[in-house]
Amino acid sequence: MMNQKYGPDGAPLLKVSHVSKHYSAKPGAFSRDRRVVRAVEDISFEVYTKETIGIVGESGCGKTTLGKLVLRLFEPTNGEVLFEGQDVLKLKGQQLRDFRRYAQIVYQDPYTSLNPRNTIGKIIGEPLLVQKLADKKAVQEKVMHMLEVVGLSSDYYGRYPFECSGGQRQRVGIARALILNPKLIVCDEAVSALDVSTQSQIINLLDDIQEEFSLTYLFISHGLSVVRHMCSRVMVMYLGRMVEIAECEELYHHPMHPYTQALFSAILLPDPEMERNRIILEGDVPNPVNVPSGCAFHTRCRYADERCRKETPLMREIGNGHSVACHLAAEEGKE
Ligand code: SF4
Repeated sequence: MMNQKYGPDGAPLLKVSHVSKHYSAKPGAFSRDRRVVRAVEDISFEVYTKETIGIVGESGCGKTTLGKLVLRLFEPTNGEVLFEGQDVLKLKGQQLRDFRRYAQIVYQDPYTSLNPRNTIGKIIGEPLLVQKLADKKAVQEKVMHMLEVVGLSSDYYGRYPFECSGGQRQRVGIARALILNPKLIVCDEAVSALDVSTQSQIINLLDDIQEEFSLTYLFISHGLSVVRHMCSRVMVMYLGRMVEIAECEELYHHPMHPYTQALFSAILLPDPEMERNRIILEGDVPNPVNVPSGCAFHTRCRYADERCRKETPLMREIGNGHSVACHLAAEEGKE
């Protein structure tokens, strides 16, 4: 369990400031206007070394896009990403290659993210060769060591992805990310496709290697129980916006944003004192090319009023590092 307290004692490893990603959408059959998809809108947060920060929200809320913006796999439309104080968007040449080495990703589907024609040994060792960090002999030794670290025997060196189970393939994906000795790993639904027992094995592995290699995780998931186990802080996204962020237990026990309350009302808490009524969200998530005015959540919010329809709520801190974007969230005290 990694629910430790992290704070601004040192500089953050990652600092994301007002990052947005807009796409131009194709015009519809009866329209010539190009419209804009606001996939991620004005998101700011910091992540500290060895912290695990969770990003949760419904499918299509922009979680994965945000993860890829942080890694510069997508270029932001606006905003700034600092990694160890360096502006990631300005990196070029060797500096960019170094960043690619230190900031890695583990994908959801270990099968499609591994080249089926390559052996496991080649898949894990390839990043070292691409980055020119070792010769072939040294690569083989490092791959063998990595197989051991992720709990696979040396027999897997010559096997192919189709010969591995889902959990084994995810171990290969983790080994491939780990071999470059990264500082930050974006886990994009990294355990979502696995059955429950395999999921807990991979979570334990992520726990262990975090300690051993001083890793920092951005943990993107729609599995709220897994996020609770893994994360020190959690960010909630809705329609490309961050609506709430807090330390994990604070958020799970005192969600302040009506969307977070609805999302978390569906999970069971092990505390019998914490009775929680299920809140069913009405309506569908609005189309991101036509985001509602004011608060983007107002079309589904049971507390929405005139102000919510007109005025966009800004993120504001309500104490203890807990911030929320809702006009009605109390300054202090919980509902
Ligand atoms: Fe609901 Fe208004 Fe708060 Fe938005 S600002 S979450 S519509 S109460």
